[in-house]
Amino acid sequence: PYDVLIVGGGPAGAAAAIYAARKGIRTGVVAERFGGQVLDTLAIENFVSVKETEGPQFATALEQHVKAYDVDIMNVQRAEALVAGDKLIEVKLANGGVLKGKTVILSTGARWREVNVPGEREYRNHGVAYCPHCDGPLFKGKRVSVIGGGNSGVEAAIDLAGIVSHVTLLEFAAELKADAVLVKKLKSLSNVTIITSAQTTEITGDGKKVNGISYKERETGEVKHVELEGVFVQIGLVPNTEWLKGTIALSKHGEIEIDARGQTSIPGVFAAGDVTTVPYKQIVIAVGAGATAALSAFDHLIRSSVD
Ligand code: FAD
Repeated sequence: PYDVLIVGGGPAGAAAAIYAARKGIRTGVVAERFGGQVLDTLAIENFVSVKETEGPQFATALEQHVKAYDVDIMNVQRAEALVAGDKLIEVKLANGGVLKGKTVILSTGARWREVNVPGEREYRNHGVAYCPHCDGPLFKGKRVSVIGGGNSGVEAAIDLAGIVSHVTLLEFAAELKADAVLVKKLKSLSNVTIITSAQTTEITGDGKKVNGISYKERETGEVKHVELEGVFVQIGLVPNTEWLKGTIALSKHGEIEIDARGQTSIPGVFAAGDVTTVPYKQIVIAVGAGATAALSAFDHLIRSSVD
């Protein structure tokens, strides 16, 4: 068995692997797609100490750093079940294989929910964005739209209003779903237009980048178009925990509940990164959480009875 078996090969899993391997213990990483969300990212400008890089380049650097240590990387493998036994924890794979660990670190990340309208995929990273903390500054002085009037959408609109020239917030329902204090703040901003009962129908572009958004007024059925340069989709971040339901404590949003040490509800099982209840989903935060989980796993191993 592995001393530390890591499920997920994004920034959190990579950091956990490096920290575990440096303790000289048997470490394995199983990942569906080594690199994780970073592979879908263009510019990264907020990984502290790296002024600017690109996603695929960052993913390669993660892999090279992990490969500098004695770590088994099992890429293109999907975990389907977690089974905690008396001594060992098993991870069952889609290919029928079973991996065993004395400790397990879960770092399967998350994915942004898409609006699924024409233009969204086509202009992803060319005006269509999902992360205001990451991409907000790229739209400085420009006009943007935020799709989604829940807490994340309203927070994004408030954040962006301080950077961009104008924000149009589109909400499908008749009212914004965000906390009243956020809605009040949003309504106090002069460069924000709030449109409710609006169903986004298309993100338009010139073939290279976004130039507008179309929406249907749900009450009248009329389709309207707004010219702008960016669209932030804020309709939810979905943690990759479908395979863990019923085995480990999850929050109401499906995130793995962890404490400050990355400990989950199962002894010997730790978690890190976007898949957890950690409040902010960022690379630098996932990397720190991966290190925390690995050190906690090591601590667990040295306190466990010797067999
Ligand atoms: P992920 O990166 O999601 O990695 C999860 C890993 O688990 C992957 O290897 C995946 O294949 C694997 N996995 C999932 N399910 C299974 C399974 N069942 N079995 C096996 N493996 C599985 N953050 C920033 O800080 N700055 C930015 O500029 C930035 N820009 C972004 C732009 C885009 C378009 C996106 C999508 C995200 C961006 N982020 C950015 C967010 C950042 O990418 C994430 O916070 C970070 O990647 C989280 O790392 P993670 O390791 O927790 O999860």
